[in-house]
Amino acid sequence: MSDLDLSHAAVSNLRLSRRSAEVVQSEIRNMSVQCARMGGINLSQGVCDTPVPPPIAGAVAEGVAAGYNIYTRHDGIAALREAIAAKQHAFYGVAVDPDTQVIVSGGATGALYSTCLALLDAGDEVVLFEPYYGYHLNTLLSVGVVPAFVPMEPPDWTFSAADLERAITPRTRAIIVNTPGNPSGKVYTRAELEVIRDVAVRHDLFVFTDEIYEHFLFDGRAHVAPATIPGLAERTITISGFSKTFSITGWRLGYAIAPEAWAQTIGFYNDLVYVCAPAPLQYAVARGMAQLDRTYYDGLSDEYARKRAMICGALERAGLTPFVPQGAYYVIADGSRLAGRDSKERAMYLLEKTGVASVPGEAFFQRPEGRNYLRFCFAKSDEVLAQACEKLQTSNF
Ligand code: PMP
Repeated sequence: MSDLDLSHAAVSNLRLSRRSAEVVQSEIRNMSVQCARMGGINLSQGVCDTPVPPPIAGAVAEGVAAGYNIYTRHDGIAALREAIAAKQHAFYGVAVDPDTQVIVSGGATGALYSTCLALLDAGDEVVLFEPYYGYHLNTLLSVGVVPAFVPMEPPDWTFSAADLERAITPRTRAIIVNTPGNPSGKVYTRAELEVIRDVAVRHDLFVFTDEIYEHFLFDGRAHVAPATIPGLAERTITISGFSKTFSITGWRLGYAIAPEAWAQTIGFYNDLVYVCAPAPLQYAVARGMAQLDRTYYDGLSDEYARKRAMICGALERAGLTPFVPQGAYYVIADGSRLAGRDSKERAMYLLEKTGVASVPGEAFFQRPEGRNYLRFCFAKSDEVLAQACEKLQTSNF
């Protein structure tokens, strides 16, 4: 018998972990691969190709020259933690201690992962609003957490308090709130957050937020940070990051803000998995934030409202009715008129006919509705977006 003949063993030790069977590859990356293969325009993945603000881009080399090339404190350099705390106070009136409550991580993704590792156990349940961001679901699955889904209904992606209440069991530990949401663009109102607060308080649950699109708001809407709702601060882990606000998705910089009691252990897991976020990039963002004022942040909403109008107009004219988003930079469109049995086939059909890549709706839904939907990302330069719009409007399909 050769060393490599494992047929005698019932189950080889050379196998994937059991949890890997639950976690599937994101359709989002898959569509990017298909798009590249066909030389199409990629409106699938949320990779913004918009420019990095000069005060931030210009400070990277300065960070390197100033010696920010070695491990930083596991929860980030003081200047960045202070900038995050100051911004939280300026925008939302929240008092945050930069020394004990802020953990700078490898993106919002790293912040959520560290939070789940620190606060959840295998077998716990966590509530997700559907449509959901696939990374939220897979992050939960990868730590053995069981998701419970609360449906949101188009066009405004509203949910009912009764459905939320029904999703809670004795094993529920947390609710994830993504506002503004990906892929729905939903901006949770204060009243909706109060409904969530009532349930969270009644059942003694954490609220994990994902506020990465907090500066992408349309039609005069305001971002209500869940931690500002009375009764939520002490049970909320606020998660956000810089990928979207500064168009630096590849820098991998985000953060969690948490009550001190939780922050220490979230920081411990952040140290274990990431050690620290990239040092010179932390420096550059801290320097840039000190120079950018409110007009920069407010300008994002104006810029993206214009892009939203471009893509929604083109989708409408193409017969792919959009659910016009309230925030963030994605739009869900009804692709039921496209050939295909499911949203993956519909997305592939659209890519073949128009050269525009989208994400199949099933990536965001458990319910069958997902089969009809496609998600388009409009975080693109005006030039690229205009080309995509032209192709959508003029192709025959
Ligand atoms: N959260 C949401 C809702 C997102 O859409 C994305 C990007 N697609 C992320 C988090 C990723 O954020 P980061 O780059 O900070 O990890």
